[in-house]
Amino acid sequence: MSQTDIRQRDMRGLREGYSPAVRRFEIASIVGFALTMAWLAWRIAPRVIASPWLALCAFMVGFVAADFVSGFVHWAADTWGTPDWPIIGKALIRPFREHHVDQKEITRHDFIETNGNNCFISIAPAVGAALLPEGWFFGAAMGFALCLAIFGTNQFHKWSHMDEPPAAVRLLQRAGLILPPDHHAVHHSAPYAKYYCITVGWLNEALYRVRFFQALERIVSATTRLVPREDDIGKKAALAMAEPLPEEPAPEACSLTPEA
Ligand SMILES: [Zn+2]
Ligand SMILES: [Zn+2]
Repeated sequence: MSQTDIRQRDMRGLREGYSPAVRRFEIASIVGFALTMAWLAWRIAPRVIASPWLALCAFMVGFVAADFVSGFVHWAADTWGTPDWPIIGKALIRPFREHHVDQKEITRHDFIETNGNNCFISIAPAVGAALLPEGWFFGAAMGFALCLAIFGTNQFHKWSHMDEPPAAVRLLQRAGLILPPDHHAVHHSAPYAKYYCITVGWLNEALYRVRFFQALERIVSATTRLVPREDDIGKKAALAMAEPLPEEPAPEACSLTPEA
């Protein structure tokens, strides 16, 4: 595939897709997320105090799980669908298209635009964790860390694109505790098909080496006949880089031989 085959969407059209309705959706998501997380924190707090080491283990597992979820959601939104879809397309897919056309645009987003979507996707898992029975403390604490790290993910992602992030942020990036800019830059070379994890990026190299997302793409393509990244980089470039699918079985030929 040549770089000149890549056809991305028009930036102005993508920017205009950020409508007042999407903005209201983001504000509602942030409020809903904050209330749900407060409820979950109140549910797990007594056990965190009673078993701090167990809680710490659960928080760490939740943080790594968030890195995986960030990669999975990012891969799904980069690879499939279109901003023209109602609701999900406008609210969730459009920002991913915009981000590949102009990776600095995210640094101009305010708190609501940066974090609204991740709050939305974290509400259901946070409710699930809060409803877990008493004996499921590890799961509930893990769920708390997972949702908190997913909430932080796009903020970490935004910081990784800033020329001059705050000093404390730079320290965390250098320590590899939030997404480092040079690590994330690997994702931003066309055709944007690796290093999807954007919470901290710890899982990127392993998922790339085992061809995890390529395997998923083959499964989705084989079952749906969709071309990965067609909407993101244009059909020609997407077809050039897609692995060929097995031929569909030909319909059973009917015999034209006259009966004896
Ligand atoms: Zn991407
Ligand atoms: Zn980025």
